[in-house]
Amino acid sequence: MQRNIAINTASSNTAPSDRPDPSTDRSRRPSPATSNRTPVYWNEHFLASRYAFDTTRKSALVVDQIKEEDLNVELVDPATFADETERLIGTVHDGAYVEAVRTGEPLDRAESQGFSWDEGIYPMALAHNSGLVAAVHDVLSGRVKVAGSLSSGLHHARAREGRGYCTFNGLAVAARAALDEGANRILILDFDAHGGGGTRSLLAPDQVTQIDVSTNPFDRWTPEGSDSYRLVDADDYLPAISDALDRAEETGPFDLVLYNAGMDPVTDSGVSPTTITHRESQVARWATARGWPLVYTLAGGYEHGRYRLDDVATLHTLTVKAFA
Ligand SMILES: [Zn+2]
Repeated sequence: MQRNIAINTASSNTAPSDRPDPSTDRSRRPSPATSNRTPVYWNEHFLASRYAFDTTRKSALVVDQIKEEDLNVELVDPATFADETERLIGTVHDGAYVEAVRTGEPLDRAESQGFSWDEGIYPMALAHNSGLVAAVHDVLSGRVKVAGSLSSGLHHARAREGRGYCTFNGLAVAARAALDEGANRILILDFDAHGGGGTRSLLAPDQVTQIDVSTNPFDRWTPEGSDSYRLVDADDYLPAISDALDRAEETGPFDLVLYNAGMDPVTDSGVSPTTITHRESQVARWATARGWPLVYTLAGGYEHGRYRLDDVATLHTLTVKAFA
């Protein structure tokens, strides 16, 4: 009902257009957030799979740290966006693949991301995607400039299968949500250690620019249009981030920035925690100075070498702090 009212109002108040105005379209859908603190989306379904892996468990540890440190963010349940997110997943992914993830049949497709299937996998992946859709709604409605979602396991997923521990591509789903809400130009900043080849395969380069700084060649991809992909060593990491942000500025302005804030450059590629702290403050300052709405998500970061899962959560909490 509310959605119909919003669409009717928008169409009666604005000049005819192919796209709704992002400031009027769905801004009337109430946000589940209740304050003007940075909303950070999460619920228990993020942990719904029996299959335990860093990406299906670490968000709970980030939540613990947010609470322990009393960070100036509002933890918000994205459940009211689940239906909308299911619809959007259906526009990004092949229907038979979505059904395989939901039912476990056929098993090879249901497990194509690399997990053993159980009935919690689908609600887990849906929740990680819903958090991003809710966050996009918050920033495009103008209620807040920045929102986060404690999601991961996104950017390698393809239309017809999962890949690299990624089930549904929440970045592509979030971009589709933004296009539906009237955004015309979207930037994906992918600073996960690995490439975002899955995301690039799912979105049109004229609508979505992808700027990627990787430290591992997995899922590398070929830039089109104003895209940029760079594979760098740990020693060159911060200059590459600066260059990427400069490039984004030249390419902008953007209606939305989706920031895939992976911590695996630290856990898997030798980038130092100090360097990654600089990265997060640099991205936050850059986004604030431009005034472009930004949604961040956790992405990669793994128990590896000297890093335990608690340490991985501490690294991800740096992102939450930078945008609080
Ligand atoms: Zn990664």
